[in-house]
Amino acid sequence: MLKDEDRIFTNLYGMHDRTLKGAQARGHWDGTAGLIHKGRDWVIDEMKASGLRGRGGAGFPTGLKWSFMPKESDGRPAYLVVNADESEPGTCKDREIMRHDPHTLIEGCLIASFAMNAHACYIYIRGEYIREKEALQAAIDEAYEAGLLGRNAAGSGWDFDLYLTHGAGAYICGEETALLESLEGKKGMPRMKPPFPAGAGLYGCPTTVNNVESIAVVPTILRRGASWFSSFGRPNNAGTKIFAISGHVNQPCVVEESMSIPFEELIEKHCGGIRGGWDNLKAVIPGGSSVPCVRAENMRGALMDYDYLQKDLRSGLGTAAVIVMDQSVDMIKAIWRLAAFYKHESCGQCTPCREGTGWMMRVLERLVRGEAELEEIDMLFDVTKQVEGHTICALGDAAAWPIQGLIRNFRDEIEDRIKAQKTGRSGAMAAE
Ligand code: NAD
Ligand code: SF4
Repeated sequence: MLKDEDRIFTNLYGMHDRTLKGAQARGHWDGTAGLIHKGRDWVIDEMKASGLRGRGGAGFPTGLKWSFMPKESDGRPAYLVVNADESEPGTCKDREIMRHDPHTLIEGCLIASFAMNAHACYIYIRGEYIREKEALQAAIDEAYEAGLLGRNAAGSGWDFDLYLTHGAGAYICGEETALLESLEGKKGMPRMKPPFPAGAGLYGCPTTVNNVESIAVVPTILRRGASWFSSFGRPNNAGTKIFAISGHVNQPCVVEESMSIPFEELIEKHCGGIRGGWDNLKAVIPGGSSVPCVRAENMRGALMDYDYLQKDLRSGLGTAAVIVMDQSVDMIKAIWRLAAFYKHESCGQCTPCREGTGWMMRVLERLVRGEAELEEIDMLFDVTKQVEGHTICALGDAAAWPIQGLIRNFRDEIEDRIKAQKTGRSGAMAAE
């Protein structure tokens, strides 16, 4: 359990002053130049030692990613791009940072960009985040006025510009290479990887794309030390983490906690328990809509981290958007709704995703009504396997995994509905 004094984000709910003055009073922008003067290698080594893994969902080690950037300039500019296109259903943690603690992100942009030899950083913010864009832009303006950005940023000797770009509401632009295409003014369609952005990213230049939370934690990690950060959570699952808990809990919330916190503790401590009590819990999607759901009984005792959720429960921490579902939920319909989302958001560039998302959604549509044959359950599972791993970007996998989770965990519910429908049909025919 995280103590209040260990929180990085002390203004998630906007109870305090979010302006520069307020941020400085909470310890942000303290000794920033001193951190930069310790040098690039020191910053990257500390980030590696902290164990921070990317908070956008994939969990790739942040310090390692930074080390892929060229050490010396080859004549091309280097860029940091912050992915603020937070659109994963259930996910609203970066929103809280940008609304109420924007200076944590801005200071992080300066230090991270310096570490990667970048004089410019772009923050790409989700189209629907209008108030967040205003809050962030106001904070950027304040930072420029105070000399924390621009020439000799924060007195560090490093010239640094920060630009905020507004997306237009396409989920796929949160995929890092689609985001880069969009930043370049093109249609947001993912690129093949490799090359990874560190080799050829924005305008073909070395680029690192990081999530908002990943960058916003950087200054505090460097100030308090890598070992402080890595003391939370389990090995390979280090740090503090923002969880966004929604659905059938008594008080949905966004909260920073220690990584690896047990699920029940997270829910009891911050959400006032499950609506109707623990016996009323049916399923949980522990990491945003792209990860498979987990049955209630398997969530009891679960540790909320990458390894436990993936290895022990065949799900994932993803964005740590915890979607809680009680017994009132029609699981087939819930997963159908996600399938419809992925079908709508597919960019259509590759066939398994473009066609597969439509097929999966349509089969699920019939399963919701029970108007299907039992064999179609396996057929649907087979279609998800044809999509998974056969597409340019992770949207294909993201569309396939929730359906696999449904079939693995709630096959009985699907079968019962088909059987009930058949019985109803034959009963009606007999009556005729
Ligand atoms: P990924 O595993 O392909 O990559 C993760 C990061 O590591 C990328 O920045 C990538 O460039 C880098 N990387 C991976 N392998 C590398 C290598 N060999 N060399 C250099 N760099 C390497 O995952 P992804 O497609 O970037 O992201 C998928 C995740 O995004 C999913 O887990 C999903 O949960 C999440 N997601 C989040 C949101 C959101 O709103 N935050 C929205 C959609 C999806
Ligand atoms: Fe587009 Fe889907 Fe292919 Fe990704 S997987 S590139 S969203 S068609």
